[in-house]
Amino acid sequence: MTPTTPINDNRELIDMDRRHVWHHITRHDPSADPFLLIEGKGMRVWDAAGREYLDAVAGGVWTVNIGYGRESVSAAVAAQLSRMNFFAAAAGTEPAARFAAALLAKMPAMSRVYFSPSGSEANEKAYKMVRQIAHTRHAGGKYKILYRVRDYHGTTIAALASGGQDQRNERYGPMPDGFVQLPHCLEYRSPYPPDADYAKCCADAIEEIILREGAETIGAMVLEPITAGGGVIVPPDGYWPRVKELCVKHNILLHIDEVVCGFGRSGEWFEHQAHDLRPDFVTMAKGLASGYAAFACTAVTEDIFNLFHADPSDPLGFFRDISTYGGCAAGPAAALEVMRIIEEENLLENSRRVGAYLLNGFRKMQNRHQVIGHVRGKALFIGVELVADRESKTPADETRVQAVVAGCKKRGVLIGATNRSIAGFNNTLLFAPPLICTQKDADQILETVDAALAEEFGSDKKVQAVAASAGV
Ligand code: PMP
Repeated sequence: MTPTTPINDNRELIDMDRRHVWHHITRHDPSADPFLLIEGKGMRVWDAAGREYLDAVAGGVWTVNIGYGRESVSAAVAAQLSRMNFFAAAAGTEPAARFAAALLAKMPAMSRVYFSPSGSEANEKAYKMVRQIAHTRHAGGKYKILYRVRDYHGTTIAALASGGQDQRNERYGPMPDGFVQLPHCLEYRSPYPPDADYAKCCADAIEEIILREGAETIGAMVLEPITAGGGVIVPPDGYWPRVKELCVKHNILLHIDEVVCGFGRSGEWFEHQAHDLRPDFVTMAKGLASGYAAFACTAVTEDIFNLFHADPSDPLGFFRDISTYGGCAAGPAAALEVMRIIEEENLLENSRRVGAYLLNGFRKMQNRHQVIGHVRGKALFIGVELVADRESKTPADETRVQAVVAGCKKRGVLIGATNRSIAGFNNTLLFAPPLICTQKDADQILETVDAALAEEFGSDKKVQAVAASAGV
């Protein structure tokens, strides 16, 4: 496949970018050209120098689930913008109403959708709802929000305060009060004895914290259904039923952050539905409009919605929140078309099928690369944890993990890695290709990672020993 527009000499463009753009989460190197993308089609993107890449992280941050260059989405957005582009979401628009109805048909336990432009905001809306409920229903009690180590819920200060990735918060404090940390659920790094019931240990640890804080102070628990940026952590079997039980027992609202998982990433419309969870809040963004518009949602149950309408005589009793761009009609117009494409092209099934193939490929790769300590994930959502030593599970050095990412890029495949997030544990390679990924694309990803690992770690003594015994 080749790009449809010729790649001209983009020197001027590159210089404009280099001089004027402050890139996100980037230490700028004045001597290096910025990575500037010109075009995308399907699974592939082309940079300003005309180089082609297979994108194995869906726009860098698990977003472009339906792939690049979808003209039906841009057409739907263009038609909507020409007709009615925006009105503050205190009012409605046609695509917003249609999308809300279509979305809720996929999640029948929820009943209302609140729109905003980003995952961070979608989460903050839920936090504000919890706080308001604390004021109106619990005389200011039940205001705390529990969150889990390694989870991430966004970049704004309150979202950061609910984030379990210590390095992301460093130097941005003081953080607001009322957010309390729970332990992670990564069994590979379990602190318990090997024969312990890990899911039960996790749940007991959560309950201990609830009792320590006092259930009367705790309003909600926010959890990623599969931790994304924290290293693709799939909770162990038996974890979710216990979490559900604890929430009911201690009257704690459950907020599931589906910003990454939602809309097919894990091979489900929503990952929490695979575990029969009954959340009070579900937040989503990223794959929702697949990067064709800035769009996020906070979905709530009818019970939550009703709490904000129970007392018409209270002048401040409704949810007094507004985000200007929650009213941009491009988001729901794009999301409606994204939803149609996912259904028409059976992308949930494709995510499960090709994801299983990719996961299996990485598991087999463990035989050749001693540095691969753990492979985990679900569907096209995979983490490959690199270790300096399999027995001690000492994490691989972050700079070497980044060298593998760079090695893949050099070979034309974009992958991700935990990056300055969790001190000492930025050692997991991340894979989340668009859900249109074929087996051939998966093979290209596997071959490229294999080569990049061999280049970075191939001369390590242990790796050579394993390779020799495996006859490779
Ligand atoms: N929740 C999760 C699980 C995320 O991964 C992210 C973004 N990486 C967010 C929330 C925040 O989304 P946004 O960047 O759109 O604010």
